[in-house]
Amino acid sequence: MSDRLDLFPPSSSLDPDRQLRHLFGFTDFRPGQREAIEAVLAGRDVLAVMPTGQGKSLCFQLPATLQPGLTLVISPLIALMKDQVDALRAKGIAAAAFHSGLSESERDRVVQDLKLGRLRLLYVAPERVQHDWFMRLLRSAWVSLFAVDEAHCISHWGHDFRPDYLRLGALRRELQSPPCLALTATATPMVQADIAEKLGLRDPLRVVTGFRRPNLRFSVQPCGSTAEKFSALEQALAEVQDGSAIVYCATRKHVEEVAVALSRVSLASRTPRHASRLTPHASRLSVGYYHAGLDDDLRAKVHEQFLSGRIAVLVATNAFGMGIDKPDVRLVVHYDVPGSLEAYYQEAGRAGRDGRPASCVLLFHRQDVRTQEYFIKQSGNEQADTLRELLRRMVAYTSVETCRQLAFLDYFGDIDERALGPCGRCDRCLDPPTTGATATDPEEHAAVQAVLHTVACLHGRFGATRIVEVLHGGLSKQVTRLRLHTMAGFGQLRSWRRPAITGLVQRLIASGYLRVEGLEFPVLEITAKGASMLDGKEPLLPSSSSLPNDADLFERLRRLRTHLAAEEGVAPFVVFHDKTLRLIASRRPASVAELGEIPGIGPAKLERYGRKVVEIVNE
Ligand code: ADP
Ligand code: ZN
Repeated sequence: MSDRLDLFPPSSSLDPDRQLRHLFGFTDFRPGQREAIEAVLAGRDVLAVMPTGQGKSLCFQLPATLQPGLTLVISPLIALMKDQVDALRAKGIAAAAFHSGLSESERDRVVQDLKLGRLRLLYVAPERVQHDWFMRLLRSAWVSLFAVDEAHCISHWGHDFRPDYLRLGALRRELQSPPCLALTATATPMVQADIAEKLGLRDPLRVVTGFRRPNLRFSVQPCGSTAEKFSALEQALAEVQDGSAIVYCATRKHVEEVAVALSRVSLASRTPRHASRLTPHASRLSVGYYHAGLDDDLRAKVHEQFLSGRIAVLVATNAFGMGIDKPDVRLVVHYDVPGSLEAYYQEAGRAGRDGRPASCVLLFHRQDVRTQEYFIKQSGNEQADTLRELLRRMVAYTSVETCRQLAFLDYFGDIDERALGPCGRCDRCLDPPTTGATATDPEEHAAVQAVLHTVACLHGRFGATRIVEVLHGGLSKQVTRLRLHTMAGFGQLRSWRRPAITGLVQRLIASGYLRVEGLEFPVLEITAKGASMLDGKEPLLPSSSSLPNDADLFERLRRLRTHLAAEEGVAPFVVFHDKTLRLIASRRPASVAELGEIPGIGPAKLERYGRKVVEIVNE
């Protein structure tokens, strides 16, 4: 081992600044890099949370060139490994990657280099670690730094949990617990704690930094329908003057639909009739799409065309992005709400890498939350609660009242950046939500009262769409069957346009007068703040008298439940929750099929009790 040590500089020349300039060719460290590197060189465990593109790799690459021994880098993406290894080799640094894509001779070469102690850095995919012979090989090497990239993959609380990562703690112990550097672009304090525990970090230095993206303008646009989303998307694209745009959708189906619809628009806009609507650049926008269902060749081609600028607007699922580093993305639109703020910030953060102004627009149609709910159901039960919580935080973001950038800094725990205050660019900073509740305009004030009153009367039984319908005076089948047209608020905002009423409802949610309950079947409820706003104006109708016969039906349903429960020898709530009964009483399903649409009634219950319940309703 002694001949190997001779190859390395004595510790007195551990000069990160010099190395930064001479070997890596950079003049300054970026925020967080110096702290992380100095701690690593001092043998301390480090947990670094820095956004993508900030320069995490340098935090292990630079120490690897200054200290003896091997730096083992765990990384999940073969493509990224290759890029880094190539870049390091170009600088004359002995680096290699070990993964399933190597030919036999390449593999032998790496093993040979490793045995002879010739490597400074070795990149390994986590699944490699399962192989015994490979472990033996690693144990015989001297690992002086254990670097784990994408460390959030070790946590169930992260948005990209990978079971292979769970072995890393044991691997580290087998290697005599070398100092560990865990790196990630997205880790909430909870995920950080999880990483530290699972990797066995000892009093790690936490470097959380660089989450502010001062050139990005974040905004959320509430949309009441798919059509509204699409026109908002067109609008956003029309403002793109140069560079390119990414449109993220939650499903492959949406990707293809949106891409097709956009190509039509961009073709149509070449005809004189539409030409004036879009900017010159927008009318030339070439549209492409990308998702995991395309074959490898096509994906590679689309990727290449996007990078080269031949595709200006790329519609994609989240399969597109890992390792994308296109500097001039001017706009990232989320056509569907993502599953977590981590995912959102990472995807939106692909805008404006060049530091020039760029926009990140989230088109928020509440119904889209159901798609995410569906993904959660598919994901298997173990993680479902966690994912639901992540989704809840994502949805909560859409209605924060303060600066969007601050909301992200809070979420990621970047205290230093938070202290620097709001961004001054986002929709909240530029156009603070006016509640309307304090509006001086008497007409608007009356409208606010009407909305609050109607929501209060309906007592958490309906979502925004139905409320808007009632206020607007829509006589749909549902409305008449539920006798909503007999309510005081019915048609009170008849003179308003429906989107305007939707907008008012959204503002009242955003400013805390109303709140949305339930992800899958969201209903509107009035908050304490909203209720006190109403206080002293008109007395609130108690929930059960607002709908004629409601209480009566509820009673009859309860009697049925008591009867059924006694018959089966179970507690009444096993048959139906009160909440479910109330929903049945208010929605009055006329058939078993309609009953099946009420949350809380699965197929088994439907079959067992469905007919009897419907009989009671129709009595
Ligand atoms: P991350 O892993 O955080 O996404 P990378 O390590 O891939 O980011 O670095 C992103 C880019 O920033 C790379 O091109 C890298 O060479 C560059 N970079 C890293 N550190 C610095 C620095 N101190 N000064 C200038 N460029 C840097
Ligand atoms: Zn702001």
